[in-house]
Amino acid sequence: MGLPAPPPLGASALPAGTYDGVCVLVTGAGTGLGKGIAEEFARLGASIVIASRKPEHLDAGRAAMDALGAPVETATCDIREPESIAAAFDAAEAAFGLPQVLVNNAAANFPVPAEDMSPNAWRTVVDITLNGTFFVAREFGRRHLAADTPGSVINIGASYAWTGGPGFAHSAAAKAGVKNMVESLAVEWGPYGIQVNGLVPGLIPHEDMTADIQENLSRADPEKDALQPAMRVGTRREFGWAATFLASPYAQFITGHTLVVDGANWQRRSMTNPTVVPIRDQMGKGPFTLD
Ligand code: NAP
Repeated sequence: MGLPAPPPLGASALPAGTYDGVCVLVTGAGTGLGKGIAEEFARLGASIVIASRKPEHLDAGRAAMDALGAPVETATCDIREPESIAAAFDAAEAAFGLPQVLVNNAAANFPVPAEDMSPNAWRTVVDITLNGTFFVAREFGRRHLAADTPGSVINIGASYAWTGGPGFAHSAAAKAGVKNMVESLAVEWGPYGIQVNGLVPGLIPHEDMTADIQENLSRADPEKDALQPAMRVGTRREFGWAATFLASPYAQFITGHTLVVDGANWQRRSMTNPTVVPIRDQMGKGPFTLD
């Protein structure tokens, strides 16, 4: 049977208009889960600012918000660059005022055995996923401290922050840093009215997944639902609902927490897990050679 299916798209546990007049900035909201999160805030009345690098992603995010009738602004932004982040916040402020909610969703990832990982691959993923997440949170915090206004930050994480992630050493290490950062910032900024939480998705397939990630997923059993204790994968709206709850007036006392929305999949461990297959074999790679 598994866990029950969620209510349909368009439903919400929060009162209509919960985010009326509230500006929500979501990094990487032109694709995948970021877009799903932005849509749920938009349904509840938020004005949305989408920050990412590629024009086609910004256009896709804008179209999704237009379809919901939500006010939207897009900002070309590389979260590795503090000046680029400041410009995105300037654009947000000009359009809607200082964002009251930040969803730090943008990240980079691709599977690669650690021994094959180039220094550049490591640096790129850590630079975007860990450094970029901090730089955006820092900009948000500084502007709110200067304005003496409250706010809410949600950093999107991954469950391999706790477990490690074979084939994803760079991203897992970066996400562990992101989770730890939530805990530091929540304590530092609580006195100034800024709530900081983490939010972790389980397997939530979507059409924007990169070719690398799709290929990685395709190596597992095609019946993905059966691989989950919930007997089903997650949906983007369930993840978006969790984000809208965490930043809402009903969750203000929840801070420094990282919430996992994955049907308990990451806890599915035992002394008799399936046979160990080295990551090189899983990825169809031959023996390692120094070249
Ligand atoms: P995705 O579709 O690949 O989206 C990543 C987004 O980040 C893109 O919109 C991309 O936009 C943006 N981005 C990447 N580098 C950037 C940079 N340097 N500056 C600004 N924006 C940048 O990924 P997703 O599956 O939706 O994942 C969203 C979040 O959930 C990530 O934090 C990911 O680690 C986490 N997650 C997802 C899953 C899952 O099952 N999907 C599981 C665990 C964790 P541009 O290319 O336009 O910059």
